[in-house]
Amino acid sequence: RNQIIFMSHTFIIASNNAHKVSEIQLLIGSDFTLKTLADIGFTEDIPETGDTLVENALIKARHIYDIYKQNCFADDSGLEIEELNGAPGVYSARFAGEPVNHQKNNEKVLSALLGKSNRNAAFRTVIALIFEGQEFIFEGKIEGKITESLKGINGFGYDPIFQPNGYEQCFAEMSLSEKTQISHRGIAVAKLADFIKNC
Ligand code: IMP
Repeated sequence: RNQIIFMSHTFIIASNNAHKVSEIQLLIGSDFTLKTLADIGFTEDIPETGDTLVENALIKARHIYDIYKQNCFADDSGLEIEELNGAPGVYSARFAGEPVNHQKNNEKVLSALLGKSNRNAAFRTVIALIFEGQEFIFEGKIEGKITESLKGINGFGYDPIFQPNGYEQCFAEMSLSEKTQISHRGIAVAKLADFIKNC
């Protein structure tokens, strides 16, 4: 019985990104154990071949579930910029090419928006959960503006150029817990956490 209770509180998170895992662990609470891909000894790269965040999140979750048959979830996020018709979106990580380079990505966004007045953007996260064989999707979104220059040193990715509406600071000027309370990932994970707490 103990083992069943333990198992239902353990989820594989199809990621090895330490920032992401700590953001998610903070929201899910210590009642739940997250096992990363490194924890389970999975070292392959799962090709993210989808054209949407939902497709990519499902590809990753299904890949892990098919092998391990354990409750698992995967997330996929992106930055959508109005002036760029929603780009980089699902291609956010590699916006400035391979290998992934956050500094180059930020520079590319800033030059694409140079002199533009519409700086509206949104971060979106999709989480695909496979729980006891069934698939569930959770989504979080936060709207904001792309700044004129880099601000702050916290976080990762586009954090230094994204300022959420209603705030004076960029994500990169916030602490992890301040960011998580309002972020796309925070909102999606809060929905996931609500769901699994009620299972
Ligand atoms: P992922 O699906 O969470 O790996 O996100 C894909 C890409 O979107 C990242 O490599 C970043 O470029 C960008 N991104 C996603 N979430 C965030 C965030 O919270 N802050 C900054 N950039 C992010």
